[in-house]
Amino acid sequence: MNQVMTTTRPATSAALAGRNAIITGSTSGIGLGIAQALAAHGANVVLNGFGDAAEIEKARAAIERQSDAAAIYVKADMSKPDEIANMVEEVDRRLGSVDILVSNAGIQHVAPIEEFPIEKWNAILAINLSAVFHATRAVLGGMKSRGFGRIVNIASAHGLVGSPFKSAYVAAKHGVIGLTKVTALEGAEKGVTCNAICPGYVWTPLVEKQIDEQARSHGIKREDVIRNVLLAQQPNRAFATVEEVGALTAFLCGEGGRSITGAALPLDGGWTAH
Ligand code: NAD
Repeated sequence: MNQVMTTTRPATSAALAGRNAIITGSTSGIGLGIAQALAAHGANVVLNGFGDAAEIEKARAAIERQSDAAAIYVKADMSKPDEIANMVEEVDRRLGSVDILVSNAGIQHVAPIEEFPIEKWNAILAINLSAVFHATRAVLGGMKSRGFGRIVNIASAHGLVGSPFKSAYVAAKHGVIGLTKVTALEGAEKGVTCNAICPGYVWTPLVEKQIDEQARSHGIKREDVIRNVLLAQQPNRAFATVEEVGALTAFLCGEGGRSITGAALPLDGGWTAH
């Protein structure tokens, strides 16, 4: 393996000053990277997700220290529609509006279809797909009425192509891209854009966990999963970084992203060019 998670600080600007952003699933990995990037461009950010309370507070405080933005944490379980609605209400109450929604929370399970646990199918569809609908539904009216909104859905290269043993994940991510297009069409005349980012493999705890699951499913060693299963898909043979996903999200949320809507943007080292 030639690459691990990086710690590069995002570029800073005030391009998103005064905007309030919810980033779901931002206590770890890509979501945390996106929150750091949006805050570095001046947006107030709402962290959400699970994890150790002290670690979450450390990440929240670090964002405030390193930017001019406010950072708050709202603990909503994205598999529960009422908790999603409550989160949006709480953010409206505390910050005044939700101008940017990044639906990023996601889970994975890897197993052949005939052995795929039904509860895992249901959980993946709930968190990776239905939560995107519930969060969008809760914020879209306010965005349209204010004439500005940016919705970024973190889909996956698996929203564009399939891979064996990932039935629920691939189905959910393809669904996210469909929902992205409909949201873009409904928001188009009201200053609301909606796009999906489709990363290939990004080195995060989610990927770390599936290396062992893939090793079991394929009956091969961990090192062979990294070399021959994961990075075999990416022509540039390198993991993407959370900073790259953060930078693209920040661009889409700024003025430069005004005319980009309804797109599914690969960030995958060429994977989906095959
Ligand atoms: P991660 O496991 O590091 O982070 C997932 C985040 O989601 C965590 O903050 C976790 O607490 C949160 N979360 C999980 N279940 C939740 C729930 N029910 N309610 C609220 N929060 C919940 O994963 P990651 O790799 O950073 O993935 C983030 C997103 O990026 C996911 O949607 C994933 O599908 C997508 N993605 C990841 C990769 C990759 O290679 N890592 C590639 C393509 C797409």
